[in-house]
Amino acid sequence: MKVESFTIDHKTLLPGIYLRKRGETYHTYDIRMFRPLSDGELESVEANGGFPDNERFLSPKTAHTLEHLLAFHLRDTLNLDSSLIYIGPMGCLTGFYIITSPELPRQKLVESLKLVFGMICEAKNIPAATSGECGNYAFNDLEGAKSVSKRLLETLF
Ligand SMILES: [Zn+2]
Repeated sequence: MKVESFTIDHKTLLPGIYLRKRGETYHTYDIRMFRPLSDGELESVEANGGFPDNERFLSPKTAHTLEHLLAFHLRDTLNLDSSLIYIGPMGCLTGFYIITSPELPRQKLVESLKLVFGMICEAKNIPAATSGECGNYAFNDLEGAKSVSKRLLETLF
């Protein structure tokens, strides 16, 4: 298996901020916000009507809003643009990937994320949520992003 993240045992993975790859030119982190789906869990949840948004996984709209807010506050508000190569949601909606330059210390990233989740809890609007700046500016959930951020502040740090 060539895809490194597929070799991680997702059955024992807990929410957290993980340094996944320490490359020469970049570092890859997982911000795992939700525990992966476990064997047998799907059947019990489906019997109860499915997963409520943002209770067990990010809703797609919340992931999009978090993408805007995390990128804006990390790059602009905290001025980490030159160290931040990429930030975006995982397709499985259990968290985000962050790719940084190797010069950014892990502790600095963790402290910055804590600050940014605090800022998101207070957010009044979504940066760059306009037709000129985003592929689908109507596809957002600010209240969802705030409630997930509040929970992450209580559980991730
Ligand atoms: Zn967008």
